[in-house]
Amino acid sequence: MAKSSAKNKAEKLSFQAEVSRLLHIVAHSLYSEREIFLRELISNASDACDRLRYEALTKPKLAKGDSDLHIDISINKHSGLITIADNGIGMNRKELIENLGTIARSGTAAILDKIASDKTKKKDKDGVNLIGQFGVGFYSAFMVAEEVTVITKKAGAASAFQWQSDGNGEFTLSEAERDSRGTSVTLCIKEDAKEFLEPDRLRHIVKTYSDHIPVPINLLEGETSNRINDASALWTRTRNQIKGDQYKEFYHHVAHANDDPWATLHFRAEGVIEYSGLLFIPTARPFNIFHPDRKNQVKLYVKRVFITDNCEELLPSWLRFLRGVVDSEDLDLNVSREMLQNNPIVAKIRKGIVTRVLNELKKRATKEPDSYAGFWDAFGPLIKEGLYENFENRSDLLALFRCHSTHGEGLVSLADYTQRMKKGQDTIYYITGENIESLKKSPQIEGFQSRDIEVLLLADPIDDFWVPSVGKYEETPFKSVTQGGADLSDIKSASSKKKKTPAKKDSPSTSEGIEQLITVLKEIYGESVSDVRTSERLTASAVCLVAEEGSLDMNLERLLQQHQQLDKKASRILELNPDHELIKTLAKTAKKKNGNDQIADAALLLLDQAHIMEGESVTDPVAFARRMETFMKNGL
Ligand code: ADP
Ligand code: MG
Repeated sequence: MAKSSAKNKAEKLSFQAEVSRLLHIVAHSLYSEREIFLRELISNASDACDRLRYEALTKPKLAKGDSDLHIDISINKHSGLITIADNGIGMNRKELIENLGTIARSGTAAILDKIASDKTKKKDKDGVNLIGQFGVGFYSAFMVAEEVTVITKKAGAASAFQWQSDGNGEFTLSEAERDSRGTSVTLCIKEDAKEFLEPDRLRHIVKTYSDHIPVPINLLEGETSNRINDASALWTRTRNQIKGDQYKEFYHHVAHANDDPWATLHFRAEGVIEYSGLLFIPTARPFNIFHPDRKNQVKLYVKRVFITDNCEELLPSWLRFLRGVVDSEDLDLNVSREMLQNNPIVAKIRKGIVTRVLNELKKRATKEPDSYAGFWDAFGPLIKEGLYENFENRSDLLALFRCHSTHGEGLVSLADYTQRMKKGQDTIYYITGENIESLKKSPQIEGFQSRDIEVLLLADPIDDFWVPSVGKYEETPFKSVTQGGADLSDIKSASSKKKKTPAKKDSPSTSEGIEQLITVLKEIYGESVSDVRTSERLTASAVCLVAEEGSLDMNLERLLQQHQQLDKKASRILELNPDHELIKTLAKTAKKKNGNDQIADAALLLLDQAHIMEGESVTDPVAFARRMETFMKNGL
């Protein structure tokens, strides 16, 4: 950051590059919803009041003489100014620079890139949606203001500071005068945004977006000051007192989100312990939900006082898609954030919330399967994390599980799957990979499809972890179709009543010479495969690779390699389709004298091709290309 000059004079600093980019996008693409600037500034003022109230619990001095927290909006029509002032926690110099000059949220650069690239493609619409989801917060002031001035004094501090910017790359910072703690944000309204200088317009915006803010919001008009919001904590009201839109606006405020809540859970628990909650499940997946810190986002209040939005034990991490507040009557108001660890009351609340959320999801999954599919699309991977980590709720979570399968286009449940299982089938077959479309074309599932045996198609990285660790659904085990043998003959024979005939891998009909071909192939491949055998898995493809029983599944192995967790691939088994014309021809040639040499190139190409079908690279690309050239030449 560029610095200049001594103390009292204004110091010039540059915005972090991401902020400059964000400001540019904000100033150029959000026009239809400019009024939300007020919601954002009020939301910040309300958060500042929450934090002051919390700090004052242990340091009552901070609120002394000025303990009625409030937000005041004043308009100076003549000079074109709007000021939003609060007597909340305030900011010191360092916080001012960090909070209003940088963006701390991880993933910001990535989302800005995405917005920029979307804009060039489909005009502003997507960019606006994205940025709405991302939340521009304070910077939204620049949609309506040509200059923003912030004067703030941190609670308990001696000096106040002024921050000022026109939103173009730089801001200035100087010491300022301010009698008491808190922050005022003054906007010098743009020529084309003068509508916001009308008190009625502002009153309407506050009613629409900020009625639920639990701090009084006053509109100062001349000598009078009128409260313009309801100012009681929304979650303390009863459900029938609240309109859908109020829930929605509250969600926007607590979640810093712009979509609609997919589910709203408003409840009060009265029993051994007493607490209320207003929790939301978003419609859209928040952009940083896969951030490694996996923190939950629910705010904890005690008797209406905000305590923390960082209580790890309040929720398991797989529920980090929840937004909203939980308000406890039993915790001590003086509870420190440390005391929340291993706290039995928190543990009980957590259990209660998990149950409520699971019930809601179960209900929606059965009653509104289409809408639930949307939830699953956004948050399925988190439910899978829950399956991996959480033993207590495993069967509930398995009931919520959905995925694509070889049975039609829609999502299927495990109950659907097991009901459709063939006679003699005692296994849930699945395949994992990078995406559904390529999984549908996997050679390993051909034999299953031709026998009408359903295979689950799983394309989230976590699938390779939770499925083996959960192991079974009710009493039916899961089995990867790319691992170990495929005992499909059992299922076939079961339907023709020849139960439990041991699977005959090489019946005489499967063309003579196969045995010999296998011997020859093993010789050619040497160490690069662990075995060569015939398979019932294949119908259209000539070959495929599978992992050995009990070893890592192939997709997991690839994942681990991508993340440098594994340096050597285990060798695979190459399976042959004995009914495939190519294999039959090779078998014939292998029987001949010198057959070995004649099929060597074809055999190596076949193995490379099996790797390619797995989305892997060939071991020696140059040799592969040479062999291909020879083959093409001979074929022309
Ligand atoms: P967010 O509210 O999502 O954190 P914002 O861009 O709205 O993001 O605000 C950035 C930060 O600036 C806030 O987190 C807060 O620390 C600080 N801030 C903004 N307005 C105020 C205010 N009125 N009082 C105290 N701090 C504020
Ligand atoms: Mg904010």
